[in-house]
Order: sequence, then C-alpha cells, then structure tokens
Amino acid sequence: MNIILFGAPGSGKGTQADLIVESHGLKHVSTGDILRKAVRDGSDLGNQVESTLAAGELVSDSVMMDLIRRVISDISVEQGWLLDGFPRTEDQSKGLLTLLDELGETVDAAIDIFVDNDEIVRRLSGRLTCDECGRVGVAENNANNTCRNCKGSMRVRRDDKPETVLKRQKIFRARTRPAKDVLAQEYDVHRIDGVGTPTEVAQRIQSVLEQINQA
Ligand code: ADP
Ligand code: ZN
Repeated sequence: MNIILFGAPGSGKGTQADLIVESHGLKHVSTGDILRKAVRDGSDLGNQVESTLAAGELVSDSVMMDLIRRVISDISVEQGWLLDGFPRTEDQSKGLLTLLDELGETVDAAIDIFVDNDEIVRRLSGRLTCDECGRVGVAENNANNTCRNCKGSMRVRRDDKPETVLKRQKIFRARTRPAKDVLAQEYDVHRIDGVGTPTEVAQRIQSVLEQINQA
C-alpha cells in the first residue's frame, strides 16, 4: 500500500505517520527527517540545504525530486511507502505523478489532516524535538527535557521559533495547497479532522483506509 499524508506543520502529521506505518508495515518517508539527518551528518545534501531549513523555506524542487526518486526506488512494492512532507509544491506533485507512472506504481490513499491556524500556532510553540533521534514531544512544566527514546536532549526545533512557524504556515498555504490540488485531479484526497487525541485522529484515518481497502 502507498499512502500520501498532507497536513500543515503542526497538524500532527508526523505523529499520525508513525502510527500508520507501524500498523501497516509501511516504509515511512519523512522528507523533513531525511533532510535534518543529512544536516546532522554533514553530508553534501545536508550542507546544501542547511540554511534553507533553518529559514523555514522550501528546498528546491529539483533537489527534492532527486531525493524522492532515490528513496522510493529503494522501497519494495510489497512493503509500500507513506510519504510525509512530500509533495509540497505543484511541481513536486507533477514530478511525483510522472515518477509513479515510470515505476508502474500508484497511490492507494491520499489523506489530508486538517487543523485550523490558531490551534496550529498554539501547538507548535510548545513543541520540542530530540536533537539525536528526532522524536517529537511537548514542553511540560518542570520536566527535564530528556528524550524518552534515546536520552538525547529535547529542544525547540530551530524552525519552530514563532516567526519561522508563521512563515512555514504561509508557505504551506501558498505552495502546498496547490500541490494537493494537482494530486486531487488524479486521486481522491480524504480530509480528516485533526483535532482530538492522537488515538482519535488515528481512528478516523484507519476507518478511511478500511473503506478504501474494501472498495
Ligand atoms: P513541518 O513540521 O514543517 O511539516 P518537515 O519536517 O516536514 O516540517 O520539514 C522541515 C523542513 O524541511 C521544511 O521547512 C523544508 O525546509 C524542508 N522540506 C521538507 N520536505 C520538503 C519538500 N517536499 N520540499 C521542499 N522542502 C522540504
Ligand atoms: Zn531521542
């Protein structure tokens, strides 16, 4: 099964992605995680994108297409993938559709997690991310901000600062909505209400996936 997950920064997309890949055995392709890891590793790709990420801007479509082609080609059809953070522009959507044609693959489900803007700004200003493994958590009063996963330190991600959050929302509205529209010409995009506990949202997604699998 191949799934595309859309959702604004702060919509809970990453959390839901983890839950879906776990229950369906899919390969999780988070372009944000891949790029941040490249920066941590100091690879050529990392050096190329570091300042773009810190500014909350988008990495160029050609760099992203090269990356996604390499990643998707390496995943077996039997396993399937979940794209989290890609496509994010109109041209990435077009590029993806062409790539899938080439590979003889299709998208089984496209899901859009919707959360309104005020809620998103509230959520992101309290979000912490582990420096080491990328785990995402919420700032708690007096909690020592140690990662439960790897004991690394949890910090506000460089691009989760309020001004950068607003910029990413703006970019999301301007660039990623059109990306979704391009995909919607080819596939149904299912809109899911992203307000609720992670379990509640996961159940909404699961019922859409079941409907699709039965159809
Ligand atoms: P968010 O929390 O904004 O959803 P991600 O972890 O998905 O963040 O992405 C973090 C950053 O990585 C983005 O702000 C952007 O700089 C870069 N990035 C990730 N995916 C893409 C993409 N498909 N196209 C361009 N840039 C991307
Ligand atoms: Zn960690």
